[in-house]
Amino acid sequence: MEVRVRYAPSPTGLQHIGGVRTALYNYFFAKASHGKFILRVEDTDRERYSDESLEDLYSTLSWLGIKWDEGPVVGGEFGPYIQSERYKIYQDYAKKLVDMGKAYYCYCTPERLEALREEQQRTKSEYQGYDRHCLNLSEEERAELEGKGIKPVIRLKVPTEGKTTVHDLLMGDITRKNRDISPDPILLKSDGFPTYHLANVIDDHLMGITHVMRAQEWIPTGPLHVILYEAFGWEPPIYCHLPMVMGKDGQKLSKRHGSTSVREFRNDGYLAEALINYVTLVGWSLDGSTEFFSKEELEKCFTLEGIHKSPGVFDYKKLEWFNGMYIRSKSDDELFSLVKPYLVDKGYIHSDPTEEEMRVLKLLIPPAKERMKTLKDIVELSSFVFEDRPPEDVEMYISKGADLKSSLEALERGSEILFSSLKRGEGSEDIENSLVKLAQELSLKVNGVFQPLRVAITNSKVSLPLFDSIEILGLDEAERRAKRSIEFMKEKENA
Ligand code: GLU
Ligand code: ZN
Repeated sequence: MEVRVRYAPSPTGLQHIGGVRTALYNYFFAKASHGKFILRVEDTDRERYSDESLEDLYSTLSWLGIKWDEGPVVGGEFGPYIQSERYKIYQDYAKKLVDMGKAYYCYCTPERLEALREEQQRTKSEYQGYDRHCLNLSEEERAELEGKGIKPVIRLKVPTEGKTTVHDLLMGDITRKNRDISPDPILLKSDGFPTYHLANVIDDHLMGITHVMRAQEWIPTGPLHVILYEAFGWEPPIYCHLPMVMGKDGQKLSKRHGSTSVREFRNDGYLAEALINYVTLVGWSLDGSTEFFSKEELEKCFTLEGIHKSPGVFDYKKLEWFNGMYIRSKSDDELFSLVKPYLVDKGYIHSDPTEEEMRVLKLLIPPAKERMKTLKDIVELSSFVFEDRPPEDVEMYISKGADLKSSLEALERGSEILFSSLKRGEGSEDIENSLVKLAQELSLKVNGVFQPLRVAITNSKVSLPLFDSIEILGLDEAERRAKRSIEFMKEKENA
């Protein structure tokens, strides 16, 4: 049997980390089993639908490099793959169910249903839900209601006896008494639009879906779907409901924890490789120890057996760590192309960089690469070159255990050593040794000398190594900045 799986998002918001993980698992499972990955857009909820969400779906999948074998744009044998283009199909199948005696027309007005609901609440009735008022309407009664111009909905006849079992690969069998299933859900609305249940089940069947991998929050609707398959006389697919993605506090991952949409991560300078690698690991493992997987590897080695039963915790720090590792695996040229938009956006370089800008970047990228966690970090790490910010915070110069006086002395004498040695062409190792000696003389830690020097030259505590920074700026500019900082600190001392 060929594996056919689908990702079936509703375009009602930006692609969320949890949704994308579902997409990845389906995609990798399809690839690893030489099956088909299908994209289906479940856009029947027209109130929550937005064009932006649909565009975000396409751009997110394409950024991640996830291609679908069948679906919108590319088409396929079982299309269309956008539910709003399939209304006729759902209407026909809903009528079929009525003809088979598995569903029925209901003409109840919203007012009647509302009154019913209030009554059930008021009397704390054990029975909650639709009262099957229209279950046994005669043809005459129906004709009369139709004559009044009332448009009916179609409801599924949920059996009142017996039990229904959802077989889930991960969770095992989930069995519910049929009488506990909310009675007679609407399948087709009076305007001819299907509800989620009807469209989802019909499409999974018609599209030949073999495995349904989706978020665990769909488990409660599982029994209803199985009843619907039985009503049609169809075989349900194999279910595998995926454990939730949670924040560190054990709550479902949400805005409170940080970014949740792939778009935000992308804008913040996360690489697709890092996101794919890490997100896949939130709830899946190969052998419990391998951590690095390229997309191509996952396309080969992904297994359903590796999916965890317990919820996965999304750790932002861990993702950042992965991102740093992937950044360091890039060549300088690749990294340049990746960081360029951030630098152009900030106004640091031209979109067609000048020769001088290229010279700076060639020097800047290698040491920056070692320090970046996200692509965006390039802005902070390179600001000292492109933005000459005069000193304003004297505290920045003072390292732990030092004070203004000792830091000023370290900066004055350190600059003297630094620039005279550089002008003589001494190597950085010798100069470093002299600076370490100076620290000892001043009874300071090594950083007591290096911090004021680095801050003087870059005006930032997050910066590249001293010698790299000087090389990028040029000796004259670096010396000018050091002198300016000395003046600044003297003023503060005398203030
Ligand atoms: N449209 C549903 C969603 O967005 C699909 C659920 C399913 O995969 O069956 O979650
Ligand atoms: Zn009714």
